[in-house]
Amino acid sequence: MLSFAYMVTFDDSRSDTRIADLRAREEEQVIQMTAPKLGFEYINLQGYTINPEAIAAIPEEKAKEAEIVGFELHRNTLSVAAKNPSNPKTQALLQTLEGRRYTLLVYMCSQASLEYAWKRYADVTSSTAEKKGVFEISAADIQRLTTEIKQVEDVPRILMDIRTANKSRRISETLELIFAGGLALGASDIHIEPEDSGIRLRYRFDGVLHDVADLESYIFNRMISRLKLLSGMVLNSRAEAQDGRFTFNTGEREVEVRSSVIPGALGESIVMRLLDPTVASFSLDRIKLNKHIEAALLRELKKPNGLVITTGPTGSGKTTALYAYLQQVHHEGVKIITIENPVEYKLEGIVQTQTGDDYTFASGLRAILRQDPDVIMIGEIRDREVAETAIHAAQTGHLVFSTLHTNSAVGGFPRLIDLGIDPRVMGTAINIIMGQRLVRVLCEDCKAPEAATSEDAQLIQYIMSKHPHPVPVPPSITLYRPVGCPVCGGTGFKGRVGIFEGIIMDEAVEEVVIRDPREHVILEAARPQGIPTMLEDGIEKVLHGMTSMKELERVIELPYHLATNPTLPVQQNVPGSDIVSDDDFLKHVV
Ligand SMILES: [Zn+2]
Repeated sequence: MLSFAYMVTFDDSRSDTRIADLRAREEEQVIQMTAPKLGFEYINLQGYTINPEAIAAIPEEKAKEAEIVGFELHRNTLSVAAKNPSNPKTQALLQTLEGRRYTLLVYMCSQASLEYAWKRYADVTSSTAEKKGVFEISAADIQRLTTEIKQVEDVPRILMDIRTANKSRRISETLELIFAGGLALGASDIHIEPEDSGIRLRYRFDGVLHDVADLESYIFNRMISRLKLLSGMVLNSRAEAQDGRFTFNTGEREVEVRSSVIPGALGESIVMRLLDPTVASFSLDRIKLNKHIEAALLRELKKPNGLVITTGPTGSGKTTALYAYLQQVHHEGVKIITIENPVEYKLEGIVQTQTGDDYTFASGLRAILRQDPDVIMIGEIRDREVAETAIHAAQTGHLVFSTLHTNSAVGGFPRLIDLGIDPRVMGTAINIIMGQRLVRVLCEDCKAPEAATSEDAQLIQYIMSKHPHPVPVPPSITLYRPVGCPVCGGTGFKGRVGIFEGIIMDEAVEEVVIRDPREHVILEAARPQGIPTMLEDGIEKVLHGMTSMKELERVIELPYHLATNPTLPVQQNVPGSDIVSDDDFLKHVV
């Protein structure tokens, strides 16, 4: 009775607190007990010093939605605590973090721990961000800006407006402008580099870097910090190279950004590659093959097995070509697996894997073969093991696509021999080796006609005399040069097109590859196949006014000296007819 009376008179609010305390303690105990059973370590974050970079690695809204928090970050190792790591939302977020190349240590914690740690978002936001918040770029602003930006000059103009207006959002607005400008102008990369004279902003579009604007030095450090936070990089390390990635939304689509920072004497430089899904439409039509090579390639892609290799330097569009091949062979009932470094675009219905510390091209390829694929895409063949596995896969009923870092199609054969491949197996393993470069297409709205110089005319006549399917060359040749107008952003070019060559493995080629695999000998053996070389394809595109002679010369060597001295042997200077040094190679990098 007495005790009952005592209970009744007990202060309600104190009682509630005690019950809540008790519940909280019980919850802690339950989590502590279940965590090891589920294979996780338990952590109590209450009172723990939360690392601000770790918390910043996950946007607040997403962290709360997925009931997770980041609390430690050492280099790329991020420690996170989740209430229930097997919750699908938590799982999805963990996957996103892994995609950003974090190594994750996952702990289990209580709701109370989460609430405690989430409070630290307030510190991160107030110390590094202004009104807008560090982690979000406004989709509406980007969308508005992309419609405003028509040419390169619009970027510095809008930048000036931002400088003179509202100071509190200066960094966010500058960043939004940088991204919007990149998207509007179709940039593949955004470069921000500190120089003596200021901070240089450049975009690469159509394969060429263009100066865009000078940014204010005074916001530079904070801007880099913001970009590093976004990319999941370590903030206070200014002396090491780091890379990361993030996505932003434009309202219509999600654009993925791969960023890389390197230290420099004047500060860090950052390069961001924009992976805009609307740009990534891969089809054989789009890469504009000439009809001779297209017919050959389609035949080779229809075969159930064999190796299809594309060659070329960095930036020659090899990945785009491989994706176009994948798209071509992608049908229901065909299992396709890729191994890439990194995965550049996600393709619907295709299993794409990415190399990492323990998943190399060689080990990954062996694992992939156990998954019973029909088609395999290997990002690059760069060592003997991968070369051998690729050849073996091609000989055992798989269609295999890959790339080789050589200067020409014909260079692929000796390169494989250098890598240790027995030339006697090539005949049965290889279907076709392609070569390619990208040239910028003259803007249809402003390109200007001009008479070819006698030197150019002579070269064109000479190349067409060797072309397996020559197009008629008029006595006075009209070529086109770039001018620049609002449609092309003042550059004179709009878009890019490939120039291609290819060597099919036939009996004649197989025979010389075994007997005498020098490039000019293989070229000669392949001549009856009737596929133009990159040079011939390029000259044809110049003759059709698609590109300019100078632009072609930017990506391949033009043999002017042969045109004026036709007694020299033809093969001597067909681009890539000799094994080239890396230096030669770099000259061609676009
Ligand atoms: Zn134009």
